[in-house]
Amino acid sequence: MTRDIKKIIKQMTLEEKAGLCSGLDAWRTKPVERLGIPSIMMTDGPHGLRKMKEDANMADINNSIPATCFPSAAGLASSWDRELLEKVGAALGEECQAENVSILLGPGANIKRSPLCGRNFEYFSEDPYLSSEMAASHIKGVQSQGVGTSLKHFAANNQEYRRMTVDAVVDERTLREIYFASFESAVKKARPWTVMCAYNKLNGEYCSENRYLLTDILKDEWMHEGFVVSDWGAVNDRVNGLDAGLDLEMPSSFGIRDKKIVEAVRSGKLSENILDRAVERILKVIFMALESKKENAQYDKDAHHVLARQVAGESMVLLKNEDDILPLKKTGTIALIGAFVKKPRYQGAGSSHITPTRFDDIYEEIKKTGGSETNIVYSEGYSLACDEIDEKLINEARKVAQSSDVAVIFAGLPDEYESEGFDRTHMRMPENQNRLIEEVAKVQSNVVVVLFNGSPVEMPWIDQVKAVLEAYLGGQALGGALADILFGEVNPSGKLAETFPVKLSHNPSYLNFPGEDDRVEYKEGLFVGYRYYDTKGIEPLFPFGHGLSYTKFEYSDISVDKKDISDNNVINVSVKVKNVGKMAGKEIVQLYVKDVKSSIQRPEKELRGFEKVFLNPGEEKTVTFTLDKRAFAYYNTKIKDWHVESGEFLILIGKSSRDIVLKESVRVNSTVKIRKRFDENSTVEDLMSDSTAAAAFSPILKGITDALQIDMNNTHDMMVAHIKNMPLHSLTTFTQGRVSEEMLDELLSRINNVD
Ligand code: BGC
Repeated sequence: MTRDIKKIIKQMTLEEKAGLCSGLDAWRTKPVERLGIPSIMMTDGPHGLRKMKEDANMADINNSIPATCFPSAAGLASSWDRELLEKVGAALGEECQAENVSILLGPGANIKRSPLCGRNFEYFSEDPYLSSEMAASHIKGVQSQGVGTSLKHFAANNQEYRRMTVDAVVDERTLREIYFASFESAVKKARPWTVMCAYNKLNGEYCSENRYLLTDILKDEWMHEGFVVSDWGAVNDRVNGLDAGLDLEMPSSFGIRDKKIVEAVRSGKLSENILDRAVERILKVIFMALESKKENAQYDKDAHHVLARQVAGESMVLLKNEDDILPLKKTGTIALIGAFVKKPRYQGAGSSHITPTRFDDIYEEIKKTGGSETNIVYSEGYSLACDEIDEKLINEARKVAQSSDVAVIFAGLPDEYESEGFDRTHMRMPENQNRLIEEVAKVQSNVVVVLFNGSPVEMPWIDQVKAVLEAYLGGQALGGALADILFGEVNPSGKLAETFPVKLSHNPSYLNFPGEDDRVEYKEGLFVGYRYYDTKGIEPLFPFGHGLSYTKFEYSDISVDKKDISDNNVINVSVKVKNVGKMAGKEIVQLYVKDVKSSIQRPEKELRGFEKVFLNPGEEKTVTFTLDKRAFAYYNTKIKDWHVESGEFLILIGKSSRDIVLKESVRVNSTVKIRKRFDENSTVEDLMSDSTAAAAFSPILKGITDALQIDMNNTHDMMVAHIKNMPLHSLTTFTQGRVSEEMLDELLSRINNVD
């Protein structure tokens, strides 16, 4: 049914329009019954549905109806699997339909600037390309079911410390290439029904009233057609916000701010057109939700649990596997050690907390998959109630480990370490867990560590254990998925979507996180994650893109269809990947681009493509990538556009950011000529490095150097260096008037006016 939204708006009173711009309550929009405008519901998000029970109050955030708890974004992104993310999204959409939820609040596409951010578990990656690809797939999946999403938190919400007031100070190029880019293609490709603005300020202005962010970038440039909703309680000045592009305030403002909108329109402070514009966007989404509502929808809880298990398996990353200790043999005695075995951490805390429909018990699942010839024993090893070392528990664990064939220790970050609302202050695991691992490793040479955590930890014991499996926060089917991976029923195929530094101080944001008072300066600029570690040559504990498999893959035959293109053309790259091991498996093929020589600062390399392929033993497939201008471009703040500097680029194919196996060189030529402007502060070198200016200036320079008997090609001469660095205005006195001000004026007007 098509509705004439503009006509409906004309029938609305000013009060009704203002009222529609804020929530009815915590989760719903206001209905206008006389005009057939229904109320719609939105709830968290992102990796499960957190629909609060009717009797729950706002603070009772864990009191929600049962829903499938999928792995959180840190794990989801480690799958690097667009299709899988879409499947998860579709399942979430089905659950929303069944529960009468019209918009799921997620996914979160904020960049992992520091490993300390309390919400990293809810975000995808340190890399904007991977993050926005994952977000786009999540959105497509949810929206395929006629349910909207709310891509959040736009923008630069990369810490929890003072999240509602902190001012993130970020330069324009960094915003464009890193923090905006993480949202950009998700908005452009997947068209989320709504985008949620962040709590914080960006460059001095609250995101909720930041016109540059909400209108110039999001709506005008990226063509976001849905509405912008505030993060819950993010509104500072409602009228300014509305004017800047914030359409819906959530939750309810209890009429307080609706009144301010009405007053502002009445006094002429706010144009009614601006209010109408917001109302139109909100109504479009409300009616879209109404039309896509599936009556009496239900979902298959069993099927979603099975999917959650598959997804958890794809999200785990095998970080280390010495002597092929994994997969475990289904014989002998296996010691499962750690309180996490019985009480695992499978999701993060805060607004994304799900009440699962069921939960796989790790111990039982491992027992079941291990079969009758495997003896499974358990020891607690540490307490989750405190970090203190408990010698008794450690001694018991040592004994159990010693009399077993292999010890699998379950460790990581307890709930109190990581949550929405606060950041970590260090990257260490609890002392009692680190000590347990070290002590068990002294009596058992076959130690496997399974980690439950939402973001990287330091691993002081890494050389004492044979294997490490990063399980992240694996959701409700974590136990079954772990059993699958540990016994090789499923071949691990996840790769890190973030760098694990050796220690916190190696992280580029270390000196500027979480900032001082209400100001955090992103001084590391573009150099986030591997962009920094690779450019600085700092060895990480595990690099971005790293992850092992139970099989082996060989790469060959990289080829490009063109070696020399202009930037309005595309290059197709292909590479062969072969499974040369004995087990079927999936490989994530990564493509990075390196600008060989650039006049501006660029990271060592940047991820520009990835594909996940399934290969049976002996099977070979060709993987192809298409690279367009953006793959080679940087954001040029002078021309306010993406720009490719003509020259040579390397296309690097890697198993990880640090394991580049093939490369090919191509030339890309810019079709955009950036006109340089020169003035009296331009240096001799500035002019000589521009062909047009050099042609006009060369005779003057020759006169100067001939008179001084200087050879400008002698790069080791101090006088040559001095002249090169000299601004034009100094030439008059330097040449004792031989180069006159008139000559320079004439030169500048000539070179600045060339077409
Ligand atoms: C969080 C959002 C969440 C909202 C509603 C806020 O505090 O930052 O991510 O969607 O609450 O629960």
